[in-house]
Amino acid sequence: MPARTGQQYINGLKERASEVWIGGERVRDVTAHKGLSGGVRAIAKLYDMQYDPALHEVMTYKSPTSGRPVGRSFDNPKTREALETRSQMMLNWARATCGMMGRSPDFMNVTFAAWGAAADFFGEKRPEFGDNMRKYVEYIRENDLTLTHSLINLQRSRNASGIFNLEEGTALEVKRETDAGIIVRGARILATLGPLSDEIAVYSPRLARHADEHSSFAMSFAIPCDTKGLKFLCRDSFDLGRSHFEHPLGSRFEEMDCVVFFDDVLVPWERVFLLYDVERLNATAHVTHSTAHSAHQGAAKNLAKCEFVLGLALMMTQALGNAHLPHTEERIGELMMYAELMRACMRSAEADAAIDQWGVMCPSTIPVEVTRNLMMTCYPRMIEILQLLGSSSFLIQPTEADFDGPLGHDIAQYLATDNLDARERTKLFRLAWDVAGNAFGSRQVLYERFFASDPLTRARALAAIYPKDAVIDRVREFLGKSNEEW
Ligand SMILES: Cc1cc2nc3c(=O)[nH]c(=O)nc-3n(C[C@H](O)[C@H](O)[C@H](O)COP(=O)(O)OP(=O)(O)OC[C@H]3O[C@@H](n4cnc5c(N)ncnc54)[C@H](O)[C@@H]3O)c2cc1C
Repeated sequence: MPARTGQQYINGLKERASEVWIGGERVRDVTAHKGLSGGVRAIAKLYDMQYDPALHEVMTYKSPTSGRPVGRSFDNPKTREALETRSQMMLNWARATCGMMGRSPDFMNVTFAAWGAAADFFGEKRPEFGDNMRKYVEYIRENDLTLTHSLINLQRSRNASGIFNLEEGTALEVKRETDAGIIVRGARILATLGPLSDEIAVYSPRLARHADEHSSFAMSFAIPCDTKGLKFLCRDSFDLGRSHFEHPLGSRFEEMDCVVFFDDVLVPWERVFLLYDVERLNATAHVTHSTAHSAHQGAAKNLAKCEFVLGLALMMTQALGNAHLPHTEERIGELMMYAELMRACMRSAEADAAIDQWGVMCPSTIPVEVTRNLMMTCYPRMIEILQLLGSSSFLIQPTEADFDGPLGHDIAQYLATDNLDARERTKLFRLAWDVAGNAFGSRQVLYERFFASDPLTRARALAAIYPKDAVIDRVREFLGKSNEEW
């Protein structure tokens, strides 16, 4: 199958009876569930963009095996131009969702594309794992499948040693092997997009401080979401079933987060990519450069989101007539700076991209990783700025029924500003509340703080790869200057 349309994606979900639970009930059809169907429609719209005549060339590329048009995020670019086209494709998706669906399918697609190119890494000790990876990447690309992932073991306690708990009975563990595959049991967090996905990928960035070489907690695999024994437990849906007017983002972009239970789940051998190999699992992201590619996708999302918040802030201040006030300009200026830093990092990552050992044009790692770390702190600040700018206007929230009801006249008269009528003002500030106030917006802040691991881990990850010698040498050179030198 070439790149899918939205309807093909929806049909796929209907055929796949994944075990999804929400509010104590098993969801029979995620495409029809009131808390999930909005998100399904949003992902379907992203897939439809692949067939928009104006976008088709950018959104798809020719499959290296079938020659058919397939999703561009599966591409392993060989040139800077191809990397920039893939970047444009990711930006198109990110802008379509206002940056509010961080786990749009391109996130996992670029990760697996990198792993496909680096399949030899997976097969170095066990050649069959390299073959598994190659075949799997071709399979998801040719069928345009949607993936979720859950990397984190639940912890029973955060102990000061920094060793992440891998307790039996909680963390996901290989319990035994059979002729058919491995049997895994345990729980993982936090599968965003879980109910809206076809497949789940399981690997881990969290064994880094685990000392053993061989561990039953070390594994990398991917299986269909409707595999027997696999259960997705959803949080509350933030799609409250309201209209786009009343809940513009929540009614569209609910991507859902889930705890995943693995109840003696059989992972077929052909879906295993790494097993027991702590060192290789820890090294995967950096050696294969999947971290640079996924961070590049994240950078596109960050840019789209920063642009959207900036545009929103500008419209809010125009509506309220305070755009010219110095402290407003100062705050808007700060939002502009974040948007431009994201843009600059993306451009620099693309300009300094280089062909890596796997033959892939890889974005420069430091600038894209910087966007990840920066977003963790700047996004909460951006939301604080929106709140400072909007104040009580966030809570002036008549519904469509209020406009059409007995108070309609009062609302129209009193809620207008010099620059906007009451309905347009309400529409704008309901959007702002979705971004900066309600459960949907709060979850976005939490997402940006933690989606790429906790801030401490991310800071340490950046410190580990930063080229420190050049800056140290500069100071050393200065300290070494003699009195005769200036
Ligand atoms: C909205 C959202 C979506 C997400 N989506 C996904 C997804 O799609 N896939 C996925 O795999 N993961 C996802 N995550 C999970 C994310 O990777 C984790 O939340 C993140 O790695 C942090 O882990 P944690 O939640 O267990 O927090 P914790 O590890 O409990 O961290 C909480 C705080 O405690 C501190 N801490 C933790 N352990 C210690 C210790 N031993 N000593 C000292 N301090 C400690 C941390 O520094 C942090 O400040 C998502 C998270 C969120 C919030």
